[in-house]
Formats: sequence, structure tokens, C-alpha cells
Amino acid sequence: MRHLTGHLVYHGPRFIPASASRPSQREFAMSQPQRHFRTCHLCEAMCGVVIEHQDGKILSIKGDKEDPLSRGHICPKAVALQDLHEDPDRLRRPVKRVGRDWVEISWEEAYATIEKNVKRIRAEHGAEALALYVGNPSAHTPGVILLPALIAGLGLKSQRFSATSVDQLPAMLASQQMLGHQVLFPVPDLDRTDFLLIVGGNPAASNGSLMSAGDPMGRIKSIRDRGGRVVVVDPRRTETAEKADEHIFIKPGTDFFFLAAMANVMFAEDHIRLRHLADMVEGVTTLRAAVAQFTPEAVTDITGVPATKIRELARDFASAYAGACYGRMGSCVQEFGGITTWMLYVINILTGNMDREGGVMFTNPPFDIVGLGPKGNYGKHPSRVSRLPDFGGEQSVAVLAEEILTPGRGQIRMLATHAGNPVLSTPNGRQLDEALASLDFMFSIDIYINETTRHAHIILPPTSALERSHMDVAIAAVNVRNFAKWSPPLFEKPADSRHDWQILLELSSRLMPGSQIGRGLRGKVMQAVQKLGLDAGLDLMLRFGPYGTHRKLLAGKSSLRERLLALVLPDSTGLSIKKLKKYPHGLDLGPLHRAFPGWIFTPTKKIALAPQLYLGDVARAQERLAKGHASDMLLIGRRHVRSNNSWMHNSHRLVKGKPRCTAMLHPDDAARLGVTEGANVRVASRVGAIELPVEITDHIMPGVVSVPHGYGHGRDGVRLEVARRVAGVSINDITDERHIDAITAMPVLNGVPVTVVAVDAAVAAPAAEELAG
Ligand code: SF4
Repeated sequence: MRHLTGHLVYHGPRFIPASASRPSQREFAMSQPQRHFRTCHLCEAMCGVVIEHQDGKILSIKGDKEDPLSRGHICPKAVALQDLHEDPDRLRRPVKRVGRDWVEISWEEAYATIEKNVKRIRAEHGAEALALYVGNPSAHTPGVILLPALIAGLGLKSQRFSATSVDQLPAMLASQQMLGHQVLFPVPDLDRTDFLLIVGGNPAASNGSLMSAGDPMGRIKSIRDRGGRVVVVDPRRTETAEKADEHIFIKPGTDFFFLAAMANVMFAEDHIRLRHLADMVEGVTTLRAAVAQFTPEAVTDITGVPATKIRELARDFASAYAGACYGRMGSCVQEFGGITTWMLYVINILTGNMDREGGVMFTNPPFDIVGLGPKGNYGKHPSRVSRLPDFGGEQSVAVLAEEILTPGRGQIRMLATHAGNPVLSTPNGRQLDEALASLDFMFSIDIYINETTRHAHIILPPTSALERSHMDVAIAAVNVRNFAKWSPPLFEKPADSRHDWQILLELSSRLMPGSQIGRGLRGKVMQAVQKLGLDAGLDLMLRFGPYGTHRKLLAGKSSLRERLLALVLPDSTGLSIKKLKKYPHGLDLGPLHRAFPGWIFTPTKKIALAPQLYLGDVARAQERLAKGHASDMLLIGRRHVRSNNSWMHNSHRLVKGKPRCTAMLHPDDAARLGVTEGANVRVASRVGAIELPVEITDHIMPGVVSVPHGYGHGRDGVRLEVARRVAGVSINDITDERHIDAITAMPVLNGVPVTVVAVDAAVAAPAAEELAG
């Protein structure tokens, strides 16, 4: 393996024996430790790392102190950059499933097999029989810009699925409904805020999500150091709550009631301060009426939060000079995820903290994601079987299994997956397992044979992330500062390997429907793009991005000649890959700036405070308020800083130590159930049951059980040697695909009604009606 790049480090004079032949300059460089600067792509924090390496071996991975965003911070997962690269289980060549075995095949055979089967199924059953699932790691590779090529190649209309519907969809929907554009993510302005209110988020474990901050906990500590306040609202006293000024326990799935009560207090006590937003909002009166019934006293029982605490918090937040109200997985993936996220936005707007320094602001990334990205559509193509609303051209993952298993026109018979493991990360994983096993054909673009890809007929593995250049595209849109960084490949890609974007282009070219002439022309274009490379595409996007000079040419009064020249001439003054190469630690483009009213895209150009979609769902919340909780025990997930969703358990350095796949229970619940620390409990829902050891802690509310996400590696055929040793059980074997948030169609992953019993006293899973709520 040959190094491509690196920054030489001088280690003093080197003695060369007289008898030795003098090494060439290149050999000399190769035999010295070298440093490579890069962005860690493993999570949204985008930390800068320094990788010391020699002769193709990684010697160390450390935080890059000169990276302007992360300032030397890394988390324990950074070592996984090496572990993933060197992992013997990582696929290096395409494989084909033959019975229970896998055999390596050539790229040509892999592509030809996919082409033959996709075209056959499309000819027999139409394009609606084809579907695609895209996993979360796709957002961490620049190759993501070519995913639309695969979608076009397959000819997909609405059978698209992704991790979005078990993650950030409610935020995208709120941005589409209230601001008119789905990719406007309000990011807490951590470096300037005085009051950070976190609802259902745990940056100490996630390192920041929809809030890329490189060292978010350092920034959160700085809020307190400069006299500000940090409050965490969560059913568990999380690692973040431990570092906050205050933690407030709240029952799972009730954040809407808590936030609506805060808004209620703000209206009732005249704390509304729209400030710069005064002329930009509409629907204030309607909103006031919508939250009128949710007084702090009315929601105390359901939330478990005392009315006095809600009133105090509403007053304090409203009177802070600059406050940011932020929610994440706990507030998104729950029974009222849609209207909870609406309320998060409402709190920020009513206090004049949206699009204001120290509040929540909008990143202006180096790529024009707002200009290029679709604004988002809701409910245009409801799902075939359950008629659940789609969003942004995607169906909810809650319907993936039923769309495969239910016969009829439009039944999915072929699934492609891209860097995803929905068997572990979406609800009722056992049902999805069955569904995937029934497919006519499946292919995956993935580096592992995991719980999902074991069902594929062909797996196409892209190169390791260290064998390609890196630049964040999607995640750059949620940064707490405007920032750009391009990193070169560390290692040359092995012969006969393919980057992810090359795989996407090749598949697109082969699968694209249409006439022979049209396909021939497109094939030529694809070949040209293959030759130019992904960086050429990124460079063009930078040059036409907000910091590129070509954008100005297009926007200004340039002549056609100047515009055409702009396409081909190097861009010396604006942002380009060439320019970023001069900044190996990254280029800080400054703090976030105000974006309104330019970035309000609603038809009236006003922020919609009371969209009809949300108003219509308030009745469902009233019903829940009247009925109370669906079960005495509610299940929530959790995340650990040494893990990331389902794909980080094959690194021994990350999984070693105390077992982490445990059911957290409050001491009162443990006593009631008669279980002691480490004893096994059975947690059961409408769809199934799992057994796992108990961890007793008063860090969790009574009536709540927490199980981490991403385990369950013991399934037959999984080729993850290390992960299988810490197999654990999958929380998504008991989350319920039919228990959904009505407006987002997202499955409920936090606040699932369950029963918990000691294993010795285990009984059959409760009847469906008992837990349906
Ligand atoms: S927080 Fe950890 S995993 Fe995330 S980018 Fe930084 S080092 Fe990588």
C-alpha cells in the first residue's frame, strides 16, 4: 500500500551507514513517520485529526489542535478510523451469496448480476417493485452527491426509504411547514448563547447532532463559565445532564405538553418578545389559542414535571438575553415528534431567538445546499398499503416490511441498500428480517456482511474512507460556525477497488431506463464524470457556492462570455478545492449570520407559526392528555460515546470493558420486580420480547426502562467477529412498526409501551390491545 499524501515531520538527522545504498528521496520519506490532517467522518462533530503513519501503517490518531472547529478535541471513537480501515471483516471485493456462503467475484460479474436482475424485475413488475434504503453513514461521505444518480438509474418514484424517518424528519418537516424549506436546520449558536435548553438530546454521547460543534461539551461548559445556564429535560439523567446546571426528569413522549405549557405561560404572562421577527411571523393568535388548554397544571400529571418548574423555566428562558431551545432524538422519535418539534421552533420564535446571535441560527455552508436542495413535499405519495404520508419523496421506514410482504401491484420485490442496517435501526427488526429474506433480489453497497446485508445476493464494498478524499457536504449544513475543510486520501486505493461514487455512477449508467441512444449518451457522460473524479464535482459546487466567485458572476451583470469562462478558469479568489488545499486544518468562514427574511420560503414569505398540519394534530395530544400513558412502563433508547448507531461494534478498542447492552431500571422498579443488578429481565411489547441484564440506577425515572440501540449481532450469518462477541439484543426487536407519530409517520422509538418482568417470572408477551394505548 502506498501513501499518497502527508506532511513531512523533521525528526533530526538520520544516520545512514556508509555501506548502505543511499535511499531515494521518496524511499526516505516513506521510511519516516508522516502526519496526515483529516476530518474524522464518523459522526456529525467533524473533528480534525492528525494521523501519524509510516510505511502504510497507522501509528497514532490524535486531535488536531489547529483545526479551527474542533480545536484538538476528539472522542474515543477516533481510533475506529484505523480499526475500520484495518478490520479483517471489512469487504474489499464484491461478494455473492451462494447458499450460506459468500464468494468473492469480479466487479464485472457483480454489476452484470445486478443489472440482469433489476432489469428483469422492472420489466415484469414495473419500477414500483424496486426500492432503496439509505443509511446514516451515507451523510458522512462526499459520494452522497451521486446518490441521485442511483435513484435515477433505478427509476425510483416513491419507494425510497432512509434513516431520516427514524431520526431528523420532524425537524425537516417543521422547517418545510414553518419556513418553507426542509434543509433549514436551526442550529444552537453555542458560542454566543446565554441559555441552552436541551430537550431529549445528549451531546455528551452523540457529540452533537444537527449541531456540529467539534467539542460540543467544551462549548457547553463555556456557556456556564461565562455565566450562562444549561438545562436538560430528559427521562434519564444523561451524561450531558450531569454537566448541566439543572436536569428535569420528564416522562417519555411528553415533551410536546411540556413545551406547549411553556408557550402557554409566555402568552399568559406576556413574555412574548418577537424582537427582529415581529414583521416576519404570522399565526400568533391562532397559536395562542392552540396552546391555551395546555397550562402547566394541566400537563403536570402526564409529564411528571411540576407546574412551578414549567412556569419558572418559561419565565427564565424568555428573559434570557439570548437563548437556544434544542431537541434531538428523544423529542423527534416519539409519539408526538411532529408537534414537539413545532413547539421547539415556537419557543425560539416567541422569544425572538430564531435567526439571532446566541439563539438558533442557520449555517451558510460552502455548498449551496439551500439553493440546490428541494424544498420538500409532504403527503404527495402516501404509502401503498397503510396510506401513511411520505415526506421529501421518501416513505417512512415503518412501512418498509409491509411494502415487501403485502402482495399486489407495487409490492417491493427488489431492495438496494446503501450504508444502512435497517434490521437493527428500524422498528420490528424481526419482521424486516423475514421481509428481506422473501425478496426476489437484493443488493447492498456496504463494507460489512451485517444483520441487513446478509440477506443481499450481491454486496459491493466501496473503498475505506482513508483511501478517498474527504469533504463533508450534508453535515456542513448544521455547523455552529461556517466552515470548510477538504482532506486528501491518506492511502492510495488498492488496485481493482471502487469508491462509493464510482459504484453509484456505474450502477446508474447500467440501470438507467430509456432508449438505447439515450442510454449510450448518458453512458458517455458517466464515463467523462468518472474520469474527472468526485473532487472536480465538489470543486464546481464550491465555485458556485456562497463563497465561490463564480456565483457572483452568475448573480451579477457578467456577460455570457464571462460566465462561460467562469466554468473553465481556475477560481483564484473564491473558495475552491485548490484554495482549501492550502488550509489542511480547515478554513473558518466565521460565525453564523442572520439569514431571514431571505431564507423564509413560505408562499407568504412569513414564518408560519400555526401550520394547519400541526393544528390538526393537537386533538390527538388532547386525547392522550385525557387518557394518560399507555403503559406503566415505557421504553426509551440510549446512545454511548463509544458507539454510533449499529456500525461501531466491530472495533475491539471501542467495545471492550463493562457490557453496555443493559436495561436501565430505577431502584424502585427493580425492587418491585424483584431483580438485582445484573439479573436478566424480559422486556416485551406487542411485537416481541428481548432478555438482557439489568443495570439499576437512579439516573432513570421510575416507570422507564432504557435499552441501547444498535445491538443484536447474534443473528445467523453476520460476519462481524468482534461485534458477535458483544452481540447483545436489539431494542428494535420490540419497537413497533404500527406505533407511529400520526403526522410524521415515524415509528415511536422513545416511549414504547412495554412490560418488564424478571426472567424467572417471565410470562407470554402481552396482548396487542393491552399495549396499543
Ligand atoms: S466526536 Fe469522535 S467520532 Fe465524532 S468526529 Fe470527533 S472524533 Fe470522530
